[in-house]
Amino acid sequence: MSSSPGAGRYAPSPSGELHLGNLRTAILAWLYARTTGRAFRMRIDDLDRVRPGAAQRQLDDLAAIGLDWDGPVLRQSDRLAVYESTIEELTAAGRTYECFCTRREIQQAAAAPHGPMGAYPGTCRTLTDAQRAARRAEGRSPAVRLRADVTDYEITDLRHGRYRGAVDDLVLRRGDGIPAYNLTVVVDDAAQGVDQVVRGEDLLPSTPRQAYLADLLGLPRPIYAHVPLVLNTEGKRLAKRDGAVSLSDQMALGNTPGDVVAAIADSLGYAARTTAELRQVFDPARIPEKPWILEPIGLFQPDRCP
Ligand code: GLU
Repeated sequence: MSSSPGAGRYAPSPSGELHLGNLRTAILAWLYARTTGRAFRMRIDDLDRVRPGAAQRQLDDLAAIGLDWDGPVLRQSDRLAVYESTIEELTAAGRTYECFCTRREIQQAAAAPHGPMGAYPGTCRTLTDAQRAARRAEGRSPAVRLRADVTDYEITDLRHGRYRGAVDDLVLRRGDGIPAYNLTVVVDDAAQGVDQVVRGEDLLPSTPRQAYLADLLGLPRPIYAHVPLVLNTEGKRLAKRDGAVSLSDQMALGNTPGDVVAAIADSLGYAARTTAELRQVFDPARIPEKPWILEPIGLFQPDRCP
């Protein structure tokens, strides 16, 4: 029996330039895929917070550091009909309900004693038709939520092992009509044949929700590997204000894409200047467990690069 080789992927949100943490995660996702005989897919998560021109710059930066991908780049903005039909499928199965809560109401309700941290408390789950009509008459436009029948779910992660996390009645379509990330990621990974999801550790807590949704939809559940983030010296996630954090910032300092790859390789414990070289030596078991703390000064001085 022949089985398809599967695929890994990278899925940036085009809200600005990719920073070194994003580039490092992209390199890791590519390495995981390429060293396991998988295809590598690219997807642009462009339903929200889109900055004009950012998607193309991100793709250019990824190519400049030596990443390649297979097949067309998938853009979520082209796939609204697919998300809608998935929401319809769940609705037909009695798996959705309309939610009229404001963010504030949810925060207040979720802060109630014994409520699971940050989980939606189910306020709108049992609204009657008349109550829904009344809310609509107030001018509120509802979000659509999943009617979950679990409160937590377990996944296995290549780096974190067994991980159990909260599953609530997650949003499928937001009140402003935009399909929600947890839905689109599940639908798109399946559509692109992605069976290996490598991404930053910040997304680990969302993964039980996504795995639950994939199981509900009868979609294959990918293998997960959540990799360490890059932090600034204050232990916060890297941001633009941390200095020369993007490829173009580095190039403005006189560094080349090869210098940036070398620094990322060094942070992973390898002496390599190209992603092709890294691919020869990559061992997922050697990825450091701790985040990479990026020192603003020094690391990227041209004369310190080999
Ligand atoms: N677009 C998401 C982000 O940039 C990543 C989604 C994912 O990897 O699942 O945070």
